[in-house]
Amino acid sequence: MTETSVDVCIVGAGPVGGSLAARLAEGGARVLVVDRNPLSPMEHPDFDGRAYAIAAGSRPLLETAGLWQALPFQPCPIEQIRISDGKPGRPASSLFLHFDHRELGAGPFGWMIEARGLRIALNRRLNGGRGITLAAPAEARIERGEDAAVVTLVSGERYRAGLVIAAEGRESPLRRAAAIPAIRYPYRQSGIVCAIAHGEPHNNTALEHFLPGGPFAQLPLGPTVGAPHVSAIVFTEAAPVAAALAKLDAPAFTREVARRLGDHLGPIRLLGRRWHYPLSALLATRYTDRRLALVGDAAHGIHPIAGQGFNLGLRDAGALGDLVLAALAAGEDPGNAALLARYQRLRRPDNIAMLAATDALDRLFSTDNPLIRRARDLGIAAVHRVPPAKRFFMRRAMGVS
Ligand SMILES: Cc1cc2nc3c(=O)[nH]c(=O)nc-3n(C[C@H](O)[C@H](O)[C@H](O)COP(=O)(O)OP(=O)(O)OC[C@H]3O[C@@H](n4cnc5c(N)ncnc54)[C@H](O)[C@@H]3O)c2cc1C
Repeated sequence: MTETSVDVCIVGAGPVGGSLAARLAEGGARVLVVDRNPLSPMEHPDFDGRAYAIAAGSRPLLETAGLWQALPFQPCPIEQIRISDGKPGRPASSLFLHFDHRELGAGPFGWMIEARGLRIALNRRLNGGRGITLAAPAEARIERGEDAAVVTLVSGERYRAGLVIAAEGRESPLRRAAAIPAIRYPYRQSGIVCAIAHGEPHNNTALEHFLPGGPFAQLPLGPTVGAPHVSAIVFTEAAPVAAALAKLDAPAFTREVARRLGDHLGPIRLLGRRWHYPLSALLATRYTDRRLALVGDAAHGIHPIAGQGFNLGLRDAGALGDLVLAALAAGEDPGNAALLARYQRLRRPDNIAMLAATDALDRLFSTDNPLIRRARDLGIAAVHRVPPAKRFFMRRAMGVS
């Protein structure tokens, strides 16, 4: 049977696998993308309430992949971040940290993009030919040998690839098949995601409000039909509280959001759907195997407290994409062992550091212990008074430190 040669096979056309495929194809690589689900149902024609915070350091990858320019809705810049500590019902009363991007003399900390906007841009590119062969929905059998990997689709088509990239999300079958252990840590919390329209403008300001049940974030979005002022809401609660919130009707749920948010944005109303996710951390003990690299949630999963999960995946995609394109340009094997070892060295420490930081933040802030609250308030007050410390945190938020 004939085999078609490609440089790379990416399994999983989610936001990380799709972005990496676009990046590699823009750089001249031949890429086979396999997803077990069809692409079109991933596109939600209506505003669906989900959004990503794209850190300033992640934007270049989306630009070189040709996706940023193809976003159908204007990204909303995050120019200021307010961090406050308090209790539901009086959330705005105890503001104690305020970051302004102008203090760094740089552009915005990042941008908010609608998840459906990224999906539309990704689907157009993945369906759009040049450099990309798409098999979705499709299941593939993959044999990774010394010289190449052979990918056989259920249709019988066969491909030969130098490198296989696992981008199938947390339950990655390729990670399991390679017997790469994954350390898991359940948070016993759920993430709740929705979008709201509000009466007053957000002035491109994000709010992270630390409540005893878990962090609550309001993130600025661009306008949508019938709603000039819109924000994404992401908050976490202990699993039983989240389950009770999920059962509320829309007006009662909106009151719960308003109680946590405060009244600085005026009256609010719910837009689109509500989403609930059980939260857990995950860390693959290695990122590579023979002719295999893990990226995105297949390699790591973190608490959404800092909105960095997808950003870490984009940084994986940026690092691996650059290594693969450089190898191809030099006429080298894109799945060679030295390249894979380099990829792991570049990415694993950064991902572990972010996992540890988000975990520590969650523990530090999701507590009502008065001693811990006092110590934490002193620490944060110190950050505010020491400009280099403040600039450090601002650069981390931008993903550029
Ligand atoms: C509540 C919450 C809020 C979040 N907010 C943010 C945020 O603001 N900013 C941010 O940066 N991150 C955020 N994240 C994290 C972010 O959503 C994930 O990190 C990101 O979606 C991971 O993308 P991925 O492409 O690696 O995996 P996934 O999105 O899981 O995609 C996996 C793809 O692989 C396919 N697939 C699965 N199994 C197979 C198989 N066997 N064969 C073929 N294909 C397969 C699936 O169909 C899917 O297309 C948040 C997460 C949560 C839970």
